[in-house]
Parts: sequence; C-alpha cells; structure tokens
Amino acid sequence: MTAKVSRTVAVAEPVSAPSGTRCPCCRAGELEPFLDLGEVPTRIGAQYATREQALGCQFGRIHLAVCPQCRFVSNIGFSSEIIDYKEPYDNDLGFSSVYQEYERELVERLIREHGLRGKRVVEIGCGRGRFLERLCRAGGNRGIGFDPSLAAAECSSSSSPDGSVELVADYYPGVGGPHEADLITCRQVLEHIPDPLVFLLELRATMKDGSTVVFFEVPNFEYVLDRLALWTIVYEHCSYFTRDSLRYVFEQAGFAVSRVYDCFDEQFLAIEARPNDGVAPRVASAEKLAAADRMEAFPAKVRDKLGDWQKEMDTFRAQGKCAVVWGAGARAVCFLNLVPGSADIPVVVDVNPNKAGKFLPGTGHRIVDPASLPAYRPDVVIVMNDIYRDEIRVSVESLGLRSEFLYA
Ligand SMILES: [Zn+2]
Repeated sequence: MTAKVSRTVAVAEPVSAPSGTRCPCCRAGELEPFLDLGEVPTRIGAQYATREQALGCQFGRIHLAVCPQCRFVSNIGFSSEIIDYKEPYDNDLGFSSVYQEYERELVERLIREHGLRGKRVVEIGCGRGRFLERLCRAGGNRGIGFDPSLAAAECSSSSSPDGSVELVADYYPGVGGPHEADLITCRQVLEHIPDPLVFLLELRATMKDGSTVVFFEVPNFEYVLDRLALWTIVYEHCSYFTRDSLRYVFEQAGFAVSRVYDCFDEQFLAIEARPNDGVAPRVASAEKLAAADRMEAFPAKVRDKLGDWQKEMDTFRAQGKCAVVWGAGARAVCFLNLVPGSADIPVVVDVNPNKAGKFLPGTGHRIVDPASLPAYRPDVVIVMNDIYRDEIRVSVESLGLRSEFLYA
C-alpha cells in the first residue's frame, strides 16, 4: 500500500530533502523528539512461514519527533533503506464486513460528490486494486492503479473483465505517464513517505488540469493522541498527520484544499484538494495549532498504558487464564512486541484465511483462523481494533465460546 512519484518528473522549483532535524513538511521548524518506543519489527504487514523466520525478522527504531511549527510528526528513527515495498504483503482488510461497508460508503460518496460517472481515475498505491475496481464498477469509470508490490500475474488477473481497470506494478506515474485523470486517489500511502512535501510537489508537477480532484487518506494522529491508540504507531509509518499538518503540507505543495475530515471512526484523516496556482500560504502560528497539549501529555500516558497491560498479563498468568489476541494486523504486531509478558499469549486469530498458519514478526506468535479458536478455550479475547468489536463478538459467540473481551 505504498508508492512514490517517480523522481524523473521535473519539479518546477526543486525542493531538496531537509537536512538534520528540519521539519520535512514546513521546512520551518526543528523537529523535537518526544517519544522513543525502541526497536520493533520493520515490516509489520509481513507474516512468516516459520517461527524462526518470524523471530529473526529485521528490527528498527520508533523515535517520534514533532514540528513545533506545523505539528507534523516524524519517526526520526526511520530509515527508508531497509524497507522494500516491492516485496509482496498481505494487508487486505476486505475480509471484514465493517471495513467493506466503510469502503462502499466512500465509493458512493466520491462518485456522488465529484460526479464520477464515465470518468478517469488514477490510484497511487492501489494494492491489489480492489478499491479502484469498486470505484470504476460503481460509476462506469476507467481506472489505472499503480503499486510496486504487485506481481506481474496480479496485473493481468486483477484487471476487470471489461478492461476498465488496469493495474501497473510500478511507482506512479510509470512508463508513459503521467495520466490524465478526473480523480487521483492515494490511500494509506503518505504516512510511508519520509518527505511528504517532495512527494506532493512531484505529484503536483504531473498535474496540468486544475479540475482534477485528489483524494488522500492517512492515519489520523489526533486519534492516536485522543484514544491513546499506541498500537497504530508502526515502523513503516514514518510520517503522522494532524488535521493542521495535513492541510498545511498540501497547501505548501500547491494544492487548494477543499476539505479535511476524519472518517472510519476517526481513525483516518481524508483530504480533498485540487491544483492551485496561487502562492502557498505560510505556516500558521504554533499557538493556533491543535494537539500541542495532547502531544506533551502523550509519553507519560503511553508508559502508563504499557504498565497496565503488563499487569494484565501478570494477572492472567497468576490465575492460569488463557488470553488470545484477535486481529493479526499491524496493531497486534505492535502490541505483542511492546507489552512485556505477551509471550504467554498462545495464538493470534484472524479472519483473513491467507494468514492462518503463519507467524507474526518479532514475537513469532502463530496465526490461526477463527474455527481453530475453540481448541485453545480462551478465557479472554483481546480485541486489537474496537471498530470491529460487534463483528468479533458475534464470531466468538458463534463458536460457542464464553470469553471475556478486553479492548487494546
Ligand atoms: Zn513543520
């Protein structure tokens, strides 16, 4: 789920990468470190065939720093050298009905609000193209999706039968690009890019038509702060946005932002914008920016939360209780690697059948499908993402289990 705009596209006013601790979004503030989570697995979307491989995975440091000028948050422990997005990954959330419903509503709304019928859609970082296919099918649109992690076979087999969707295993704009588009979508990509301003400047430079709408979706760092959503902080995400910093970086890159809003139970931020030839506005003063107080209080709250979970693990052990984790995604990898005592958890459950039988990076926990769960007779099910709480409760009860639920 990532991509970058090819550096072969000429940028009108080249902006070099920021040096040292200078903020990569506004180029005005000096990044101030505020939370060090230490070493975690670098590829949280990976699952391994054996426990040994999972334990031997690569680790990298999460050390978050904030820009006092624009509130952009960067992992200054991140190194792009050790991430290879051409490796295949399975980050498909489409097995969840809650997520499917979210995507269905998003597709409907984008089509309705932007008159996307018989139009051209480009998706940057399209994964296996499921969202793009939905967007094209529902609106009779033509789409072209880019993702360097696609295998050649997926490019042909995933293209829609009527030829309206083409998938390209490359970074945007690929060979023969850039492509004319009425809508450019890019979901859950920008947080993987250490230098979002350069990415957006290069994208902006490929766009001639001021009528093209861009739609980006990123994780919402304000949700992390407000809900103490510690497990959503992962190594592969080197850039975190608040509403202010997301709007700001788009404006700096030459876009006119029409709206920034939260979605998916506040877990994501969405932004809609068009190319703007006007002068980019200067950064707002720090006092006006939200989230300053919440960021200051965050490290102490993180320590408390980790301490509380360690106590839970100690209690389970003392009482001989079996606790399992539900959801073998990024959150589980983060939780299991950060919470002391999580080695007692025997398995992690996931509804994605492709993950069953594999092992999670760092801790080597085995993934099982829900049907295998009764064999473990879990006293406690730890739910990694409470947006799925009803879905998970129904699944657990349908297996005849009377487990207690805890929400991570
Ligand atoms: Zn900044």
